Amino acid sequence: MKVGVLALQGDFREHLTTLEQLGVSGIAVKTAQEINEIDALVLPGGESTTISKLAKAFGLFELISNRIAQGLPTYGSCAGMILLSREILDPASGQETFGGLDILVRRNAFGKQVDSFESDLDFHGIEGKSVRAVFIRAPWVESYGAGVEVLASVLIDGVNHPVAVRQGKVLATSFHPEITGDSRVHKYFLDQFCSDLVK
Ligand code: GLN
Repeated sequence: MKVGVLALQGDFREHLTTLEQLGVSGIAVKTAQEINEIDALVLPGGESTTISKLAKAFGLFELISNRIAQGLPTYGSCAGMILLSREILDPASGQETFGGLDILVRRNAFGKQVDSFESDLDFHGIEGKSVRAVFIRAPWVESYGAGVEVLASVLIDGVNHPVAVRQGKVLATSFHPEITGDSRVHKYFLDQFCSDLVK
């Protein structure tokens, strides 16, 4: 099984390290040929505007979007969630997304005062202790379609905001499990979305 981590910008190395902990040697991908050869894709945290601009500049945007639409198992963290959304509430000018999840996201949703914070989350489908979630200028899911399953939420001012969602072969989290040393979200992705692939 070839798991590619999109390596245009962002914390792709941390995702590779986390996959390594699970015995999967991921591949840093940044060419069309590499993206054509992978069986699963991880979109890292970083800056979603930059990643989408670079994907366009390198002629990868349509390819990635098409592969996701055709059922490529894909996981995105933070900027990766934004890139997988159907729509961004407050996009940077000209910012487009690959799509894959029927969600509307709000960028930098947690507000300028609280650029980053940590929280312990109940993550539906992950057993044991709660998942330590690190949010860094993170988005949340503002609204979502009927096909989307919410796996984790954060309660702010009495309102639950989804921060982990799945639909079809696509998983996304607002937070960064790749930087906490806890590989259970990646394991969840591999077990739930990639188990039919030859290992
Ligand atoms: N705020 C960033 C964006 O809009 C995401 C931040 C992150 O990935 N940590 O892309």
